[in-house]
Amino acid sequence: MSTASDEDDDPFEEQREEVDNAMVQLFDEYGRNYDFQAVVAIVASVFARVLDLAPPVLLGLAIDSVIQQNKPFLPWLPRSWVPPDDEGKLLLMGGLIAGSFLLGAGFHWIRNWGWNSFSQNIQHQVRTDTYDKMQRLNMDFFATKQTGEMMSILSNDVNRLERFLNDGLNSAFRLSVMVVAIGVYLFYVNWQLAILTMLPVPIIALFTYRFVKAIQPKYADVRSSVGHLNSRLENNLGGIQVIKTSNTESYESERVDDVSQGYFDANWGAITIRIKFFPALRIISGVGFVLTFVFGGLWVIGGAPAFFSGTLREGEFVTFILLSQQFIWPMAQFGQIINMYQRARASSERIFGLMNEPSRIEENPEADELVVDDGEVVYDDVSFGYGDEETIVEDIDFRVDGGDTLALVGPTGAGKSTVLKLLLRMYDVDEGEVRIDGQDISQTTLPSLRQHIGYVSQDTFLFYGTVEENITYGTFDADRDEVVDAAKAAEAHEFIQNLPDGYDTEVGERGVKLSGGQRQRIDIARAILKDPEILVLDEATSDVDTETEMLIQRSLDRLTEDRTTFSIAHRLSTIKDADQIVVLEDGEIVERGTHDDLIGEEGLYANLWGVQAGEIDELPDEFVERAARRQATVDADSEDDD
Ligand code: ADP
Repeated sequence: MSTASDEDDDPFEEQREEVDNAMVQLFDEYGRNYDFQAVVAIVASVFARVLDLAPPVLLGLAIDSVIQQNKPFLPWLPRSWVPPDDEGKLLLMGGLIAGSFLLGAGFHWIRNWGWNSFSQNIQHQVRTDTYDKMQRLNMDFFATKQTGEMMSILSNDVNRLERFLNDGLNSAFRLSVMVVAIGVYLFYVNWQLAILTMLPVPIIALFTYRFVKAIQPKYADVRSSVGHLNSRLENNLGGIQVIKTSNTESYESERVDDVSQGYFDANWGAITIRIKFFPALRIISGVGFVLTFVFGGLWVIGGAPAFFSGTLREGEFVTFILLSQQFIWPMAQFGQIINMYQRARASSERIFGLMNEPSRIEENPEADELVVDDGEVVYDDVSFGYGDEETIVEDIDFRVDGGDTLALVGPTGAGKSTVLKLLLRMYDVDEGEVRIDGQDISQTTLPSLRQHIGYVSQDTFLFYGTVEENITYGTFDADRDEVVDAAKAAEAHEFIQNLPDGYDTEVGERGVKLSGGQRQRIDIARAILKDPEILVLDEATSDVDTETEMLIQRSLDRLTEDRTTFSIAHRLSTIKDADQIVVLEDGEIVERGTHDDLIGEEGLYANLWGVQAGEIDELPDEFVERAARRQATVDADSEDDD
């Protein structure tokens, strides 16, 4: 039975293919840690299920040995324990039945504890390990996978494992113990009638197997049509303003109608198969039941019917009838167990595929701690490409003295962010070296490197939590006074004080919504508190109004004082005073110098400056043509991304 259709469009296909025997790996790496729970669960399962069978067996024995008196009363019991009269014997049987119920309940409790503890512990450990691994993955892994897809591994896939480990294994044991124990007992009592009674077992197994095979692709259709429906609804609700202003309500209603109909059809396809399954199963088991009833009944009344020989007592007949009903329904779960197993295997493949994903940044085990003194940064002939084919930045060569500011300027896609990602070691260089105070950063530990670098970007991210928690993020031991000082330096103190609970105001999606400029100043306060020697400002003042920009600029000036600073800014006025400006085009340095030097050169920088000063008419034609060409390739790139 293939799960190919089940896992259509799996974004983790590549990872899954790398994994052999994911279930073996699961039990080997995680199951072993909880073998005590597993053993307890298995042993208790066997006892619990066997005790489940005791009442019908004891009932049969009671009928034959106490009521009909044609069979010895519990021959294995010491004779001195056997009560002399029939009432006493019946009460003893009743006591045994009651005991089996009580003891059975105890074993069921232990069995449930064992399986649940086994599966919950594994689930917890797999989830936290997967999350830890995800945090260590390269940034480009996140660029190619959507957040929702990563989330689905951490939630759906891990939950599926738990479902299989708990319900799946539990049912599998129940099924095996039931079939084996009932089979053994029935064969022991009367092997000929047992064959007749057990006849439906292989037929039911085959039937449910085929049912699962038929219904699996239908369920895959249902899942994919739910996906389509949800995407359409989400897209439409997000774009409701455009729908209204374009007057396209009826068009959109029709589109929703279409995808909803698709979901209906897919579901109906699954339902038509599913609703036939249980009635058909009933018929098969009913045939077995009727055969046992008719032949067994005839046998009890008038002795062995055709093909049979020997005797069948009333009590044995009752036991047959009762037990035969007990394994039919567990058998119906047979297909379900296979299904759960296959889904769990696909989930394990995704999980282990992710865990085995190689990291592009390998920590050298002998790496030293980075020691920063002046904060001098040198790029020594650095080249780098994201993939194997294309070099994105080439021969990048510059030196920034401790405390100085270097600004990176250039058109979109020139490679400015890429150059700075190499400093933060989001990626390692392909050629050349990046050195901080003379130390090659690829030979230093990642935590020590990142501890000395502050990063302020244009898309500020705030975590759920209070303003204070967001400012102290990464500098967890700071006290309130230090936080307030940092916020003051970041020009954030005033607006924070005006928030409903000041520094204790909850922010983020579930709290107060802050404006872009406010979020950025919180981010800057975070960087000031961290007090790093080296600072990276990635277009730190875009998308804000002029007044806010001025506030941010003032706080940034305070932040960058005495720190080695790298700055990427589209608004050239913000980097005009940088000690060094490096102009990038197509991944290469084309100009460098101070603002005045570069204006004098009348090259790319001077033209970009001209654009921002509003001197569009005075730009050389060649510059405008190049810009248009570049824009065309950027647009094409972003369309490719879609
Ligand atoms: P800038 O910051 O100057 O706008 P970037 O450094 O962001 O430029 O991008 C330089 C080039 O590298 C662009 O062509 C971009 O498409 C490419 N690029 C950026 N990030 C990635 C990535 N994670 N994987 C592959 N290519 C990338």
